[in-house]
Amino acid sequence: MSKKLVVANWKMNGDPEFIQDYFNDFSNHDENSNVEVVFCPPFPLLSMIGNSHSYRIGAQDCHNAEKGAFTGEVSSALLKKLNVDYVILGHSERREYFKESNDLVCEKASTALNNDLLPIICVGETLEERENNTYQNVISTQIKESVPDNIEDKKLIIAYEPVWSIGTGKIPKNEDILEVFQIIREKLGNNPSIENIGNVRILYGGSVNSKNCDIIKDIPYLDGYLVGSASLKPTEFHILAKSLV
Ligand code: PEP
Repeated sequence: MSKKLVVANWKMNGDPEFIQDYFNDFSNHDENSNVEVVFCPPFPLLSMIGNSHSYRIGAQDCHNAEKGAFTGEVSSALLKKLNVDYVILGHSERREYFKESNDLVCEKASTALNNDLLPIICVGETLEERENNTYQNVISTQIKESVPDNIEDKKLIIAYEPVWSIGTGKIPKNEDILEVFQIIREKLGNNPSIENIGNVRILYGGSVNSKNCDIIKDIPYLDGYLVGSASLKPTEFHILAKSLV
């Protein structure tokens, strides 16, 4: 069985001094346990963590092309050479601020897989979509269009992140998270290359912290968390990692 995953999305935060202090305070996590801890810092800090710690590293994005004239972009081939294992794709901030479409996310995921990176594909509805009851369709379409057709189930990670929950301190009820997990599983069942849906890891993300993790950790099909602000606090993030052991 695949390990559970606790993924730190540092977004545009952190610098070399922050990393020094952070890992002085982040108690050793046993990577042989059933929980894998992944740090996704800004690109320039990836090697700094990768070279001095045994934790897995992930990027917060990659380009859809293999290489070429794309000023300011980073390829998945380069990320792989830097020992990156994971890449977050289609985060709602990228969908909103950089207008990333499902099709683009799908292309990025294919290129990432070609280069042996594991994509963490984010899906989630806005508050308006939740309130006007279109969220089931929104999630279904995101899954259908953002997940490549030729993906091996063991290589796929989906993060359900309701946009209205990110950075707001609000989290859905357990039954609402479960409902979306079921939609995700059902929709992935239509993907011809998914042989065993149980091999796809599904994460929850959105305001997870040390106070609410005990409430959500037992939701059926939950394989871990994608964590934003709480991942910037080492003791807090360590509690989240330990909560799933
Ligand atoms: C995120 O942006 O992926 C996220 C989950 O953020 P936060 O934990 O701060 O809500």
